[in-house]
Amino acid sequence: MYSLSAKQLSSLVKEGKISAVEVTRYFLKRAEAIDPSVKAFLTLFPEKALAKAHAIDEKIKQGKSVGKLAGVPVAIKDNIHIESELTTCASKFLADYKAPFSATAVRRIEEEDGILLGKTNLDEFAMGSSTETSAFFETRNPWNLSCTPGGSSGGSAAAVASRIAPLSIGSDTGGSIRQPASFCGTFGFKPTYGRISRYGLVAFGSSFDQIGPFANYAEDIALMMDVLAGHCPLDSTSIADSKEDFSASLSQGVENMTIGVPRNLLKELDPSLIDLFNNAINEYVKMGVKVVEIDIPLIKYSIPLYYILAIAEASTNLARFDGILFSKRSTKAKTLKEVYEYSKEEGFGKEVKRRILLGTYVLSAGHQDAYYKKAQKVRRLLIEDFKRIFQTCDAVVLPTVPSAAFELGAIKNPLEMYLQDIYTIFANLAGLPAISMPIGLDKNQKPFGLQISSAQMQDAKVLRLSAALEQQLKLQTCPPLFAKEFS
Ligand code: GLN
Repeated sequence: MYSLSAKQLSSLVKEGKISAVEVTRYFLKRAEAIDPSVKAFLTLFPEKALAKAHAIDEKIKQGKSVGKLAGVPVAIKDNIHIESELTTCASKFLADYKAPFSATAVRRIEEEDGILLGKTNLDEFAMGSSTETSAFFETRNPWNLSCTPGGSSGGSAAAVASRIAPLSIGSDTGGSIRQPASFCGTFGFKPTYGRISRYGLVAFGSSFDQIGPFANYAEDIALMMDVLAGHCPLDSTSIADSKEDFSASLSQGVENMTIGVPRNLLKELDPSLIDLFNNAINEYVKMGVKVVEIDIPLIKYSIPLYYILAIAEASTNLARFDGILFSKRSTKAKTLKEVYEYSKEEGFGKEVKRRILLGTYVLSAGHQDAYYKKAQKVRRLLIEDFKRIFQTCDAVVLPTVPSAAFELGAIKNPLEMYLQDIYTIFANLAGLPAISMPIGLDKNQKPFGLQISSAQMQDAKVLRLSAALEQQLKLQTCPPLFAKEFS
């Protein structure tokens, strides 16, 4: 059952060939067997999950119609609200914070009869690339338990890769869905900005943040987009009329499409991965896709732009965690000023503090023009560059990451960690849809992902290109450690 797609599983449930309860029990058992070593989950909901599964089976017995995700377990990154459950953001600050409402994305999963399996680990407030900044524990890469799963959505990626859950959702501000998808050998998709509601996602960089799905098959990413996309009146940046039949569009073919490859950016790529990348491009050529070389010189400013703009937004977003409103309040504090100071001091980890300080600095009166405003201008230029490129190209193809998964603890310098996002940030800066899909293993048997991006609202095109390559490559994507039954 672990190798079936979510689409197959829900069909079996709908046809009555297997019950939602059996499916849920099966994946809970996998969680019990696998999660002590992978540690993808902060919390699991066995009772609630089984109760929902029972209710779905009951509906089916009574001949009532059920939703697109009927009986399929879905894991949720722990910065996305599920009403009355903890939303910790993997921070001590919110260690006992319970969500007062459910995110729109979560509500849609429930409405389509998906089963909420649990909340997954992340870098604190989604700041990081390895899930190591979680205040609670580290998550491990299912392909190699001494390596990181990437981040910040490392728990959601590892849960899907190890087949504890067929589906999960994460959030991507600078690469946090795509980078862990690449490290864990799964599909991870960041849709066009505004396509999936951010209502109920704890804000990091609001003009960058986007919720998106993880899955082991392209058809499941499309299925999740069918469920998650669409206008939401509760998110003021939600795009109107953004509903589309993503699953149906997968079969439309890719012949005669043109993809652009910015070859000069490959200098940053670990040379041992270049063959995997070229091999994927060749497969496209075989399918009748035209490949052209392009130049996007401004991408080299992605990291400085992101680490000015996203942290500026983060510093204002995180100002709400002041010791008064949410969860953490220092017991040491005797005055109002101390409530602010000690609560933040005790509640936030090092990386979060670093970003609040830097973000406050770039927004301060004396430095706003030099940093924040200048960065906004360059962001605009980058957006224009991509508009120009997408006049002649259907998609831009890049590696997702500069290297395969690194060992836990290997990257100690924060600036070095920031370089993880060198290939992914552009999509957040320009609001573009971008997917990471597995294209093979390196010499150490670690997965590596290809990133496909397109113009705003061309999400379906990205999914079609990834589905076509998936069919062509026919990879086995389950990590050997967990490609077995646990009964
Ligand atoms: N790694 C990036 C960061 O630390 C991206 C995080 C994200 O996308 N949430 O900010």
